[in-house]
Amino acid sequence: MVGAGFAGLYALHRFRSQGLSVRVFEGAPDVGGTWYFNRYPGARCDVESVDYCYSFSDELQQEWTWTEKYATQSEILAYINWVADKLDLRRDITFNTRVVGAVLDEQTVRWTVSTDAGESVVARFVVMATGPLSASITPKFPGLDSFRGEIYHTAHWPHEGVDFTGKRVAVIGTGSSGVQSIPIIAEQAQQLYVFQRTPNYSVPAGNRPLTAEEIADIKANYAERRRVSWRSGGGSPHVAHPKLTMDATPEERRAAFETRWELGGVLFSKTFADQMVSLDANEEARKFYEEKIRSVIDDPDLADLLIPDDHPIGTKRICTDSNYFQTFNRPNVTLVSVKKTPIESIDETGITTAETHFDIDALVLATGFDAMTGSLAKIDIVGRAGQRLVQDWADGPRTYLGLGTDGFPNLFLVSGPGAPAVLANMVLHAEAHVNWISDAISYLDENGYAGIEPTADAVDSWIAECAQRAEATLFTKANSWYLGANVPGKPRQFMLFIGGFGTYLDICNEVAGAGYTGFDLLKAP
Ligand code: FAD
Ligand code: NAP
Repeated sequence: MVGAGFAGLYALHRFRSQGLSVRVFEGAPDVGGTWYFNRYPGARCDVESVDYCYSFSDELQQEWTWTEKYATQSEILAYINWVADKLDLRRDITFNTRVVGAVLDEQTVRWTVSTDAGESVVARFVVMATGPLSASITPKFPGLDSFRGEIYHTAHWPHEGVDFTGKRVAVIGTGSSGVQSIPIIAEQAQQLYVFQRTPNYSVPAGNRPLTAEEIADIKANYAERRRVSWRSGGGSPHVAHPKLTMDATPEERRAAFETRWELGGVLFSKTFADQMVSLDANEEARKFYEEKIRSVIDDPDLADLLIPDDHPIGTKRICTDSNYFQTFNRPNVTLVSVKKTPIESIDETGITTAETHFDIDALVLATGFDAMTGSLAKIDIVGRAGQRLVQDWADGPRTYLGLGTDGFPNLFLVSGPGAPAVLANMVLHAEAHVNWISDAISYLDENGYAGIEPTADAVDSWIAECAQRAEATLFTKANSWYLGANVPGKPRQFMLFIGGFGTYLDICNEVAGAGYTGFDLLKAP
């Protein structure tokens, strides 16, 4: 197994519980994955804390108490550590060790997994819990290495924290990581320059402490909360307005948007069920959004620059913030629109755009990830007939159900491309994948099979279905990382199953229940 984030840790627990011998390799010195690395100021979850945690054990749900609606990175990491200790997970994890290769022996259906520490282990199954957002990107700005000040990437933040007091700071990037960190950095810095290439939609998180009554109520009703989440479109207990956008009266529409806005966060894009498929419906949400955002930005010209006009709302992941737009009213904050004046180079003292030079003391890169495929591409995965996964995916990732691909028997992906993955609450998503893989392994053993491998036909049909479902929505209208558009040269393919979490789980269960349709079950050699 590779990875000790939410997915890898649950997989270790589950596989161990079914009597398998498990070895986990983790590149980091400790557990946590995303939440180990992304320690930038303001880092929080954007799915409510009480949902963004393991559901498989009611004991865990009842014992842990979240303090805020959206937990901080440190609280989430503390939770993950607590679970790792409680389930005694660390003893089977080799830390500070990256897996660099996995090579199939076709005869024995065994994988030889090699690490950067020079170790090789042979395994019947390999589970890649390597994370859809764990390979960060540092753009190749000419001269970046020559900068004499401090450089930070949000996804590799120093553990001791950073004090920007009295400094001139530049943040490049206004995705979720930038949007969460900018208001806090602005409070410390003497001067903050925000380099924005494409404006993003961001909805106030509405974060607040959870009251004892709320916690008691949630804990008393966790089973029902989770039941609704498992059946939902995104893995949390959200229910859209009963009417479609244009069927509601203008008053009903406004009231629904207002209610959802007050609740805060990403689910604004799901206020009405048709918002992501109908442009008219989406435009209603967008207009409401624009009105709200304009009302908090003092300078209307600045508002023009901060409000997106190039993609429908929600077609890139909506950011959630605390006082993001208000931050631009501060005298020490300057927005630099690098769409108009691109970053040309970086030198010893700062950043040069097409228009001017900015002297800075510190540079923060909030420039995102090579999502979905980046961490897998770093591993030399060699399947049947010497076929390499990276070559097989050169025109875009190919999977069946996001769980595996043809030519690579017994290699499972957790939250891989072709699954709902980042469109859902990722903790429940990881649980669902791990449960499916665990059941598949039990099925193989109970029925005397050596392995399982998606058929090429099943893979082709699945990626065609994912593409067809995406085309039926507005999602393909944005240049998002869902489509690989943020990585120069990456093939443009919508990498997620967009049909909804509950629907996806039904499909996975049907496949398993019918004896793993679309998979070849391999006889023992
Ligand atoms: P990760 O947590 O990414 O763990 C993968 C692990 O694999 C890492 O520790 C990595 O070091 C290790 N690894 C990778 N390759 C190798 C290798 N070759 N060898 C050894 N180890 C390797 N999702 C939500 O649903 N809700 C949220 O609110 C949310 N907030 C987020 C906030 C941030 C800042 C980011 C970046 C992502 C967020 N996500 C959120 C997505 C988040 O990635 C998932 O929710 C979840 O944490 C992923 O868990 P994971 O175990 O699948 O992967
Ligand atoms: P991101 O959404 O990909 O944002 C990266 C930003 O960097 C974009 O604004 C991008 O501009 C900019 N950028 C990249 N290269 C650039 C260049 N060469 N010049 C100028 N600007 C450049 O990455 P992210 O903010 O880290 O978020 C990624 C995902 O992680 C999120 O969508 C979310 O799923 C998850 N996340 C969640 C939370 C949360 O709230 N819980 C927080 C952080 C991350 P362009 O748009 O023009 O490319």
